[in-house]
Amino acid sequence: MSSDHFTELFDKDGNLIGCLLTADAWASIKPTVLKALNIQEAPPERPEPLADWETLKEYWDFPYAVDTDVHCDNCGESTENWQQDNPRKFRLSSANLAGLVSFTCQKCHAKITKKHFKDTIKVENQPYREKDLRKEGQY
Ligand SMILES: [Zn+2]
Repeated sequence: MSSDHFTELFDKDGNLIGCLLTADAWASIKPTVLKALNIQEAPPERPEPLADWETLKEYWDFPYAVDTDVHCDNCGESTENWQQDNPRKFRLSSANLAGLVSFTCQKCHAKITKKHFKDTIKVENQPYREKDLRKEGQY
C-alpha cells in the first residue's frame, strides 16, 4: 500500500517493517504520533544565563564567600563547583541579584534552588515532574 504521503516498507518475505512518510505528512501527524506513543519531545535547551551569574558575583554583598557547591537531594548527585564540571552535573537555569540561583540536575532533572540570605543559604529541591502528558498518553 502506498499513497502520495507514505510508503510502507516490506522485507524480502513480504513482512511489513516500517513506513516512510513524506515530510509534509510527518509534520502534520507528528504530534499525534508522539502522544500516542507516549513520547515527550525534549524542549530545546536554553543556554545557561552565565552573564547573570557573573553579575551576581560582581555585586555579591552577602557576608560569606560565593558558594559554588550544588547537591541534589533527589538522586544524590553533588559537586563542589558546578561551573568546573565537564560535562555539567548541574546546569544553571537562573540567577538574579537578589541571590536566587537555580540549577537543573542533569541526572534526574530535579530543580535545585539556592536562596541566599544575609546569614544563611536556603536550598530547595524540587523533583522533576513530567507534565500530565504521560497520563493522557495511556490507553
Ligand atoms: Zn538529581
